[in-house]
Amino acid sequence: MKKKHPITVLQGDGIGPEIMDAVLHLLQTAGASLEIEKNFIEKGEIKKATWDSIRRTKVILKSPITTPQGGGFKSLNVTLRTTLGLFANIRPCVSYHPFIKTKHPNMDVVIVRENEEDLYAGIEYRQSGDVCTALKLISRPASERIIRYAFEYARRVERKKVTCFTKDNILKLSDGLFHKVFSEIAKEYPDIESEHWIVDIGMAKLAATPEVFDVIVLPNLYGDILSDIAGQIAGSIGLVGTANVGLKGALFEAIHGSAPDIAGKGLANPSGLLLASVLMLVHIHQTEAATRIHNAWLKTIEDGIHTKDIYCEGMSQKKVGTQDFTDAVASRLGKHPVQLKTVDYAGHQNAIIPSHIGSTLISSKKELVGVDITLQSYDPIEKIVLHCKAAETPSLKLEKIFNRGTVVWPEEASEIQCVDQYRCRFFGNKVVKGETIASLMHRFATGGCDVVKLDNLYTFDGNRGFSH
Ligand code: NAD
Repeated sequence: MKKKHPITVLQGDGIGPEIMDAVLHLLQTAGASLEIEKNFIEKGEIKKATWDSIRRTKVILKSPITTPQGGGFKSLNVTLRTTLGLFANIRPCVSYHPFIKTKHPNMDVVIVRENEEDLYAGIEYRQSGDVCTALKLISRPASERIIRYAFEYARRVERKKVTCFTKDNILKLSDGLFHKVFSEIAKEYPDIESEHWIVDIGMAKLAATPEVFDVIVLPNLYGDILSDIAGQIAGSIGLVGTANVGLKGALFEAIHGSAPDIAGKGLANPSGLLLASVLMLVHIHQTEAATRIHNAWLKTIEDGIHTKDIYCEGMSQKKVGTQDFTDAVASRLGKHPVQLKTVDYAGHQNAIIPSHIGSTLISSKKELVGVDITLQSYDPIEKIVLHCKAAETPSLKLEKIFNRGTVVWPEEASEIQCVDQYRCRFFGNKVVKGETIASLMHRFATGGCDVVKLDNLYTFDGNRGFSH
């Protein structure tokens, strides 16, 4: 018997306990060799003993957790991903035509989502009455890591193409960096086709013709949205399992949430968590059990034994609840699908483990050339200009004032509906010193202005590191 592999089970809430019990029972029946450390998440908190277990086993199987409502709570899912450095999120979205209703019979897409940055970093501010802001954070090291991961994954599982989605026609610096890194890394993988789409048309294309995509790599928030769309158009989000992996651990879960509307009714489809557990078995090199469970699951789907969410009159044979569905899979262990493609994970054991981490050190000449000072003000623009002019220093002059990204001075902008935050851009006639900016700030403060934010403006090798 294979040595038991320790795993931490995180029992969530809502439908979490029902689907987890079903999946653990199936794993046991299928002969997976696991030493299960079962932990519970209570009142939105991960206890020290649970963290100890996670750090010991480094492999987590998790059922969904309800995100508490209201301010002050950070999502536990996000906390787990960021604390454990689980930078890559892999979501295979496959259609099971003709057994599960879908408009896309040939869909077989793997979404590789960056998992730690972007708007998901959750850095938000309210600094004036009218405006809330959220920071979209994209870094070169994280972009390199996830994009290289996508190409490595594609190579290991013999996929042909990696597509990148960004919105770099608008977000030229942040998404622009992700796209630039994609183009650089793609050159290192000449055996794999690469392409880029603007995310909106890319998503529309995926919704219409998913069969033209293979592996898709994208920043965190787009990945979150796209993978739910992809799961749903494949058949149901209840069918998608996902792996979150990093250098120090891996977490496997379904992509759906805790479904409070059906919790405790025995109706939930356990397939997402079940397929996540298959990814987990591959990850811990128990590929035989993974292959056995996945093929038994495919046969169950093929036999028309379906939970309510995927049941379709005329196509399905029997509508079952969570328990009966799991029993149906268990009774088919050792069987293979006839029409759907049989899976075989032999040789794929290292498919989702990250390798080749490391990032390129970029050295460039960085120069401070100006500053954006954001003021809260209800004054007319003429008065704001007077305040700014009074704060100018000999080497730092007012160039423009923006409201919600649109220039409202020096251009006439009477049609614009202004809010209470004005971003006032000051440029130096040469490289600016930090003390000059401090002196500008001092002049604003003594002038009675409400400065809510300051952003330095830099160039890198002469290229602007700020938007226009
Ligand atoms: P949800 O995915 O829980 O439910 C959306 C719809 O899909 C519901 O109608 C639900 O009944 C159905 N559904 C979901 N999973 C199903 C399954 N396995 N079988 C059958 N039907 C299923 O999304 P939501 O309602 O937006 O979120 C509920 C809670 O879950 C929220 O607090 C959310 O933050 C949380 N959530 C957690 C995770 C996670 O733990 N990874 C992921 C997403 C959402």
